[in-house]
Amino acid sequence: MAQRIQGTEDLYGGYMRAWQHMQDVARELFGAYGFDMIETPAIEQVDTFVHGIGESTDVVRKEMFRVVSGALFQNLLEAGNEDGLKAKQRMAMRPEGTAGVVRAVVEHNLVPQGAAPAKLWYASPMFRGERPQKGRLRQFHQVGVEWLGAPDAAADAECIIMLMEFYKRLGFEAKDLRLSINSMGDAACRPAYREKVRAFILDHADEMCEDCLERAEINPLRAFDCKNEHCHEVMAAAPLANDNLCDDCAAHYAQVKRYLDEAGVAYVEDPTLVRGLDYYTRTVFEIEAVGAGVGAIGGGGRYDGLVELEGGKPTPGIGFAVGFERIALALAAQGASLEGDEPSCVYVACAGSEQRDAVFSATLALRQANIRTEADYQGRSLKSQFKQADKLGARLCVVFGSDEVEAGVATLRDMETHEQVQVPIADLATEVAARLA
Ligand code: AMP
Repeated sequence: MAQRIQGTEDLYGGYMRAWQHMQDVARELFGAYGFDMIETPAIEQVDTFVHGIGESTDVVRKEMFRVVSGALFQNLLEAGNEDGLKAKQRMAMRPEGTAGVVRAVVEHNLVPQGAAPAKLWYASPMFRGERPQKGRLRQFHQVGVEWLGAPDAAADAECIIMLMEFYKRLGFEAKDLRLSINSMGDAACRPAYREKVRAFILDHADEMCEDCLERAEINPLRAFDCKNEHCHEVMAAAPLANDNLCDDCAAHYAQVKRYLDEAGVAYVEDPTLVRGLDYYTRTVFEIEAVGAGVGAIGGGGRYDGLVELEGGKPTPGIGFAVGFERIALALAAQGASLEGDEPSCVYVACAGSEQRDAVFSATLALRQANIRTEADYQGRSLKSQFKQADKLGARLCVVFGSDEVEAGVATLRDMETHEQVQVPIADLATEVAARLA
């Protein structure tokens, strides 16, 4: 039997409704903040991610699913390396949404000089070649936003406020969420800070893991993220970003916090919070569902240098991404659910095959009126049609008997109260709609 790839999931039934519900909530809330939806391709040139995410990140180095066309694949096998491939032939499945959206913003010049910021949101599958485990998939789904062209601290605060409201509308209680924030500095202060952390790691080289020693050279701040307990303890004494901000970054960070305070959003400052991707500047944030044991359920931050890395004019940006599967797990751990009820329907039944044509016409009319309508397609008895209607959660049944069809009427049966009335066939859709309302 064919099986799905490990670390991928089929979305159907309640789980699919949950994903759609998450998108509906996003559309309404993000719409109120002025965001429009964008869908970029699931495959991009590798360079888009290398520039946008950073050569030194695990995502780019180890986790990207690379794509080659069938014809090139054979060449690649024969050559033994990808040196002969042109840039446009080197493709990857997107591991995250920001790089592709920023590429699209640059390509279509969506933030021309002097224009209002571009505010975009997406709901898309992402692909990472990770070792699958609970809450860690190879294909997962994110809802995310990117806000390009807004340097003001109010944009950082509004992003976070909107995100926390998003969780609330998805069913989380504020007390079950922990929002951590930090400022990572900018091009003025980060290089010196980075150097301090590098020097710190090298000073403690004999106490740290191989990976961290490598990080010291390519991206020392990532050592704060090391999963090795001992490295974690050592890094507790490392210089903190907070103490190394330039005046502009410090003022920006203070303003973000003032806005969050004013909006009543609770947060903890975590000076060791560094997000995994290279492009972040200034504000970074991450959200965890306390006690759910699924890791971060969302995160984001400011990326003022990214548009330039993707070949555009200097344009500040900020955004976040939220993982659907982890949200579903975290809500389940807290006894809540995104699923919602199965949609109810109307079932059109008939006493015998002589009335099947009447069923056909009635289902057409009801569906034309946007009423979810089901009928029997297997020649079942009336009794088993009722059973089927119950299973489908039908609230109403329309029943055709022989006398009724001749009289131009149908019986309308309320499946809960068992109350029955006869209605003219011509009025069926209006009557049913009124009763469902
Ligand atoms: P990141 O881009 O790594 O910050 O991811 C943003 C959010 O996506 C995380 O907070 C998770 O909720 C979710 N996420 C990231 N990686 C995975 C994965 N491999 N499987 C499922 N969800 C993920």
